Amino acid sequence: MARDPRTSFAAGRLPPPPWTTRFAPAPTGELHLGHVANALWVWGLARAFGGRVLLRIEDHDRVRCRPEHERAILADLDWLGLEPDRDPSSGAPRVRQSDRNEVYESALGRLERGGEVYVCRCTRREILALSAAAAGEEPRYPGTCRGRGLPADASPMRRVRLPGDLVEFEDLRLGARRQHPDSQCGDLLARDRDGNWTYQFAVAVDDLEQGVDVVVRGEDLLESTGRQILLARRLGRERPPLFLHHPLVYRADGAKLSKSSRDTAIGELRRQGWSAARTLGAAAAAVGLLPQPRPLTLREAAARLAEAGAARAPSA
Ligand code: GLU
Repeated sequence: MARDPRTSFAAGRLPPPPWTTRFAPAPTGELHLGHVANALWVWGLARAFGGRVLLRIEDHDRVRCRPEHERAILADLDWLGLEPDRDPSSGAPRVRQSDRNEVYESALGRLERGGEVYVCRCTRREILALSAAAAGEEPRYPGTCRGRGLPADASPMRRVRLPGDLVEFEDLRLGARRQHPDSQCGDLLARDRDGNWTYQFAVAVDDLEQGVDVVVRGEDLLESTGRQILLARRLGRERPPLFLHHPLVYRADGAKLSKSSRDTAIGELRRQGWSAARTLGAAAAAVGLLPQPRPLTLREAAARLAEAGAARAPSA
């Protein structure tokens, strides 16, 4: 059977089993086929190569996340037959970022004591005005508040100084990558003006605290990886996780799926009478794990990933 070159990766570089990965949806909407493709890579890789899967509900954004979305995500995962392993420290079937304020406070405190955090009160508009980013590009924080020594009560916003280092890492699928977070985003926002922990900060702390050593996620998050590696090092992590960024699912018109893509929402497919196997197969075909959509089990997806992983020499 012809293999899709998009799926080949260096399985020989995975840590010895049992290693730990995670599925980390944000409950800002329903799961769609893109999440299912991610889940297939996460669970399939873990089943094929001796990993365990933690479920982390990434509800750090208290404004956009909703408990009903979390309930729907859990019901969809159950329906798809995707069962997570228990969190090793708490024994809980999942962790929720909104329950972990103390963990983030304590990580920030460690960095603060090392002089690596400062209070910032720049608005997004000010940063946009100062940054040279073109429309749609990520604005770089120019460090306006870095030397100001603002008192703690000036704002809940906190930034972590990022060293100017070039970060080099070897993505298991995409190979050697070089990123320069200082010129991409500048000093990293850890907590925003509403007191919300940011995705970048929470994810680096959680991956460290939960012992996640393999991060499997879509290519849309590739640009975040260098800064998460720097932050992990700043937090005292000796070996940052390994990363595998997989292909994304696109709509027929080439647009990325979003939580508002009702047509591929899993709840909608279920209402239309799709089976779990048909849903897994449609997601697998969309990211090159199957040549054509057809019903697929998780076991078969794992077998296909076992093949895709064996296709590349460990050093490639
Ligand atoms: N919570 C993120 C999302 O739903 C995924 C984060 C990650 O895998 O690092 O897109």
